[in-house]
Amino acid sequence: MAENDDYRTVIREDEDGTRHIAIVRRDPETDQLTDDQIITDLQEWRAKREQPERERWPMPRPFGEWLMATKPGPKGPCPECGCYGLRRGANPAHPDDEKVICTNSNCEACPWYSG
Ligand SMILES: [Zn+2]
Repeated sequence: MAENDDYRTVIREDEDGTRHIAIVRRDPETDQLTDDQIITDLQEWRAKREQPERERWPMPRPFGEWLMATKPGPKGPCPECGCYGLRRGANPAHPDDEKVICTNSNCEACPWYSG
């Protein structure tokens, strides 16, 4: 890779051998950050991205009764799978915390997603 002065490459290796590589565009703001800060920022950003709020709970049974008892979700398709199975439902462990969920078990936004 050609040397590029516009970017700063930060490499840090943890004690367990895990390598973190961050490439940031040089600007007055990032120039003030230490290598550690850049890596930490990157890790925080990744953690947020990789852990959207995904609750897992078993498919309600009987499903037909659950459907009758819950309200439909927002109009329009599920943003993840495109199906029209959005409903408002709550994790049985937190019945008061109603959320929009997808009812397609092939969709990761579905609490009983089976993979
Ligand atoms: Zn879906």
